[in-house]
Amino acid sequence: MATFRSVFPLPHIPDDLTIPQFILDSQHPSRPLRPYTTPWLIEDHTGRPFGHSELSHRTFGLANALSLKWGIKRHDIVCIFSPNNIDYATTIWAVHRLGGIITPANPGYMVEELVHQLHATKAALLVIHPTFLDTAHKAAQIAGLPNDRIILIEDPPYSETTSKHTSINNLVDFGSNAPQNFIEARLKPGEARTTLAFLSFSSGTTGKPKAVAIPHYSVIANIIQMATHYKINDKSWKEKRMIPGDVAIAVLPFFHIYGLVVNLHYLLFCGMSVVVVPKFNFPVFLESLVRHRITHLYIVPPQVVLMCKHPDMKKYNLSHIKFCMSGAAPLSGELMEQLHKVLPNATIGQGYGLTETCTTVAMIPPTQKIATIGSAGQLIPGIIAKVVKVDGSLAVEGEQGELVVTGPSMALGYLNNETATRETFVDGWVRTGDEVIIKNGEVYVVDRLKEIMKVRGFQVAPAELEGHLLMHPDVVDACVISIPDEYSGELPMAYIVLSEAARKRISGNQDASLKLKAVLEKHVADVKVAYKRLAGGVEFIDAIPKNPSGKMLRRVLRDQARKLKVTR
Ligand code: AMP
Repeated sequence: MATFRSVFPLPHIPDDLTIPQFILDSQHPSRPLRPYTTPWLIEDHTGRPFGHSELSHRTFGLANALSLKWGIKRHDIVCIFSPNNIDYATTIWAVHRLGGIITPANPGYMVEELVHQLHATKAALLVIHPTFLDTAHKAAQIAGLPNDRIILIEDPPYSETTSKHTSINNLVDFGSNAPQNFIEARLKPGEARTTLAFLSFSSGTTGKPKAVAIPHYSVIANIIQMATHYKINDKSWKEKRMIPGDVAIAVLPFFHIYGLVVNLHYLLFCGMSVVVVPKFNFPVFLESLVRHRITHLYIVPPQVVLMCKHPDMKKYNLSHIKFCMSGAAPLSGELMEQLHKVLPNATIGQGYGLTETCTTVAMIPPTQKIATIGSAGQLIPGIIAKVVKVDGSLAVEGEQGELVVTGPSMALGYLNNETATRETFVDGWVRTGDEVIIKNGEVYVVDRLKEIMKVRGFQVAPAELEGHLLMHPDVVDACVISIPDEYSGELPMAYIVLSEAARKRISGNQDASLKLKAVLEKHVADVKVAYKRLAGGVEFIDAIPKNPSGKMLRRVLRDQARKLKVTR
């Protein structure tokens, strides 16, 4: 059978540990010893370091408080609705120590989007940043979550509203000073394979965002797979991609699987210090790179664009950066070459993965300084890949088809959605929905077969926007596709079939037509996070092209849109 895999063997992956037991309490053979004094996490704006003992202490105190105050226990779900924060990590680990599950939500979400996540997961508690209290209040009310179940991740400035909520700091104090009220969740051999750690949201190949069921084992496996790929603890391997004491910056959001597994947990496992940045702002980011002498960057293509083109780059000497990986969306070869010019001391390349594969499938090969142009990375140990051609047969090296993968890190499926699970998770294999070519163990992403688009590295599900557009009285049919954009990668654009009445209203009136387009764009912008807005515009069309069984022919409209934008 034509399968592809890494030549490096995979060491044992423990299947009886939770994530905090693996990250905070245990020593795996692939794990290097970190110098005792290096911080684990560093708060970007204050420079305040957090070492192992402080993080362990905060995790314990918080777990105890969550158990005492709300009785959080095995299988309970806690939603984090916050930008990156030191206590993002401690909240995850505290909930895991209790046997609970974390569902990370994008803090940019509007009320309706957060409600969708709270409903889908039946979260019992909401940990939020004070800035988002208003959205959280409204969403919690709709989802039936009482206000006393909203906790602030950071102490807010005093106000009547914020004073009604306790904070993680208060809970850590309370829990650390109270007798232990919980028995830590311990897993029997094999149980980590099915005990859920995260419910992360992804649209998969089709439809609206769904909760991906990720067990502890998947996360632990992916960390060991990545560490093995780079032989992090192999004394005979000289070309180390990272050594304990190196410093990475976490600008990738922890609510996305790339930030959560790679930028946070994997780098801590490797003995690195991780600078935690709440919000990406390019000039501030550059200052932080220099201030913390950052050695490792994990970013997304729009951030690469800024590093290549922003005039402020000239002000800084970034020679301390020795590794830079871009992931979550395609990076052009041209940008990769430009990036090499601005970061001459860095190994540069891409990583590729999905929420459904609990992140990394392929990463920059362990020996290359600059990755092969166009390559999204080399398959990491433990991943087995096949490429399925349109006719269903398996591609050989160099042939194109859908990438289908398996390995120890695969998620279990979509929560409470058997149909979608059956489509994507097939006999232990995950259909990626990406069209690729594999050559020399490296993956070249050629196109995307699935519906989702990636806007600044974030997923946008056309079905979600179409569903919302159809709620507008002037819309009888809608198809959302993407158009290319230099900075964002792609931008959502909508083809709309108007109702008879709306059509008559705007007929022959250019002004009215433009106004209606603006109304429909606002209809989306009012309830959707910024990157989902119809920044690619709105076009009216007589009918959405469909195949005989009624399936939208998105590619026809996508090609049409691209031509339209070129000729404008
Ligand atoms: P997510 O689940 O949000 O991480 O999205 C996964 C999808 O992002 C993949 O199926 C790809 O379509 C896309 N993706 C991730 N990394 C890359 C990459 N390096 N090159 C091209 N597409 C990528």
